[in-house]
Amino acid sequence: MNLSELRKEAHLSISSISTYIDCGLLYRFSRVDCLIPEFKADVLVFGSVIHRILEMYYQGFLEGYKMSLLELSELFQNHWCESVNGNDRANIRFTKGNDYHSLLEMGINLLTTWYDSRPGELYRLIAVEEPFSFTVPGVPVPIIGGMDLVEEDPSGTIIITDHKTPAKAMAEKDVHINQQLTIYQMAAKANGYASREIMLKFDCLIKTKTPKFQQYYTTRSENDEQRMIRKIQSVWEGMAKGVFVPNDLSWKCNNCSYKTACNEWFMQEAA
Ligand code: SF4
Repeated sequence: MNLSELRKEAHLSISSISTYIDCGLLYRFSRVDCLIPEFKADVLVFGSVIHRILEMYYQGFLEGYKMSLLELSELFQNHWCESVNGNDRANIRFTKGNDYHSLLEMGINLLTTWYDSRPGELYRLIAVEEPFSFTVPGVPVPIIGGMDLVEEDPSGTIIITDHKTPAKAMAEKDVHINQQLTIYQMAAKANGYASREIMLKFDCLIKTKTPKFQQYYTTRSENDEQRMIRKIQSVWEGMAKGVFVPNDLSWKCNNCSYKTACNEWFMQEAA
């Protein structure tokens, strides 16, 4: 089944789990009440366009075609234009200092940096946007998602890569505890790679003034997986009981697209 088919059934995703952990009220507004967000953050739209372009590059590569930098830049320009000037245009909020043109330039510069500085084809590419679905004990719905890249090195180790477009370099310690990568390892084991060694990797196109490209490798132990299972079980229990705790100390509050609903929620009198 592909990802859109998997999404038709009840499920948890990495983003729903993360959103619930970061702020239960944000999860409720976006996924339970299905409120229309007040805006779309420019960084999210930008990140998803870069993600799509890299997916197209690697899909072409998997099929035996290597896109030139010029083709990539033109693709980015077209997709960025479509995303910003399409139906949702009024809904995008640009952060201070950003606009359509500055992010267009940033996107092309980022892709150029990535294209010129990534270390060639070290591994054999097996799959692009590989869908996955697996269950954990005590949670009646599957955890679903897609892995950006699945590769294999000459010794048979599986390398799973996720693309990111952070504003600054990541701290190594954050990479080593990142729960998205832990879930990818669990997904890989449940979807055909249980007998392999697994390495996990972020490929980061970093949006500093002078763009940078950096790769971060990490691994996960069985204990990391066990801790993640317990976390997912607690997340499910909270969701099923309708417990949606606001985290108004979250870094997400600054750019939250449900601020009005959140303020109204806080103004409600306790019953
Ligand atoms: S403003 Fe903060 S506390 Fe309120 S929903 Fe958004 S992230 Fe949660």
